[in-house]
Amino acid sequence: MIPNRSPWLAQLNRSRPIVPLAEDRAADVAIVGGGIAGAVTAYFTLKNTDSSVVLIEADRVAHGATGHNAGQITSYFERPFESIVREFGLELASEGQRSIESAWGLLDEILADAALRTPVYRFTGYAGCSEFAQLVEHLEENKDRVAAGLAPETILIAKESGWEEALPLFYKDLYAMVPQEDLLALLETEDRRYFACIASQKGCMNSARFTEELMGYLMASYPGRFALFEETPVTRVVLSESHALLHTKPGHTVEARRVVLCTNGFEQFHIENQSGSDIDTNFHHLVQGRIGYMAGYLESMNAAPTAISYFPKGIPETGDPTGETYFYLTRRPHGEDAGEAKNLVCAGGPEQVLPNQALYTREDYCREDVRESLDEFLRTTYHHHPGTGTEYAFCWHGLMGYTPGGLRRIGIEPSNPVLLYNLGCNGVGILPSIFGGKRIARILSGETLERSIFDPVDQRCLT
Ligand SMILES: Cc1cc2nc3c(=O)[nH]c(=O)nc-3n(C[C@H](O)[C@H](O)[C@H](O)COP(=O)(O)OP(=O)(O)OC[C@H]3O[C@@H](n4cnc5c(N)ncnc54)[C@H](O)[C@@H]3O)c2cc1C
Repeated sequence: MIPNRSPWLAQLNRSRPIVPLAEDRAADVAIVGGGIAGAVTAYFTLKNTDSSVVLIEADRVAHGATGHNAGQITSYFERPFESIVREFGLELASEGQRSIESAWGLLDEILADAALRTPVYRFTGYAGCSEFAQLVEHLEENKDRVAAGLAPETILIAKESGWEEALPLFYKDLYAMVPQEDLLALLETEDRRYFACIASQKGCMNSARFTEELMGYLMASYPGRFALFEETPVTRVVLSESHALLHTKPGHTVEARRVVLCTNGFEQFHIENQSGSDIDTNFHHLVQGRIGYMAGYLESMNAAPTAISYFPKGIPETGDPTGETYFYLTRRPHGEDAGEAKNLVCAGGPEQVLPNQALYTREDYCREDVRESLDEFLRTTYHHHPGTGTEYAFCWHGLMGYTPGGLRRIGIEPSNPVLLYNLGCNGVGILPSIFGGKRIARILSGETLERSIFDPVDQRCLT
């Protein structure tokens, strides 16, 4: 039986006592959820407005998805860019992509401003394709990027693939041909089934440690305007025309002019809208749960940090975590073990759709069969892998909330503007959470913002 043990929580360096809500409180802004979205939303709200902020976390800071992810910083959507263009038009779609990419700069701003010590590694990351159709999908995406005025990604195709002859001429300027040997070196594999590779800017960080450190900074920098309460589940949010009343367990309330849900989508509370149509029913169907599984082992510090994804042949949409899927690995320094500097190599990819109404339990053991499939992927793909019998220091799972459109919800609830959202993990959430935090602070400071692909959908349209 393998317990759910994440490397990010193992390195949290937490020293604060847990302070639950012990009396009724009032604040200008209440934020529900103490993951990276809640922390960054609090940061920009405190920095860019005069509002007081109360942040309420059901468990402990950063112990949700933020503490159980792959820790890869990346700006792609878990949905083809082309389908976003089709839904929203080229201009809005490209603005959405630019927004997520702008979060790299926001991350730098936070790191410098708060003098955070959480390491952030930046590098060019790679994705390997083994099928012609996968290559065409990425070329299409690149074509849309160019049309939208975004920087194209670098696409390399192996000369040995024979794929170039089959490509329409209009893709000609969007790729380069290289010997397969060079491409496999970038993908750090000897698996000769990979014939194309996409290069893009990526990074790695421990988002849990970042969140924990940021909370410490906010508490120290804004003692009169910021308060954090942990182990305080919100059970009910009652919205009126001018304010919200948050009911918590075991019984205290927080009254606020605005409330921002940064709950990743999984909330276990009810929303009662006394000033408009029902929000609760549709809100609770907004997200579908998927459990993501990961494993990691320590190796000598023999190579630089990286992030590589692999698209093997024939990816089925089964939702079966042991079935073939796309896999990814990250490698980054992880301190010392027995006096020797170590890299942490993590692999992920298998996911399981959470059946409707089923409850996810963080304490559940990791699935042995899933760990074995991750081990097999690394053994057969990653050229540094030491082979059979590798000991995995970490094995963990986390809950992702997928919105129907696969896009994060950031903005005002159309049925009652007292309520705002920065939620919807959608598998890639670090940069979107950061961008979302800034956008929410801009709204709270009174700015009127342009429409965006992240705007919450009017719940009344969903009935
Ligand atoms: C397995 C896995 C791998 C991932 N890999 C990556 C990756 O490589 N790169 C990337 O960018 N993203 C990745 N993600 C997504 C990313 O981790 C998340 O999008 C991001 O951490 C979301 O942060 P959050 O603050 O929105 O949610 P969370 O970190 O889940 O925080 C939400 C918080 O709200 C609290 N909460 C919920 N309900 C209540 C309530 N009623 N009262 C009070 N508090 C409440 C929860 O306890 C929780 O702490 C991954 C996610 C998973 C699960």
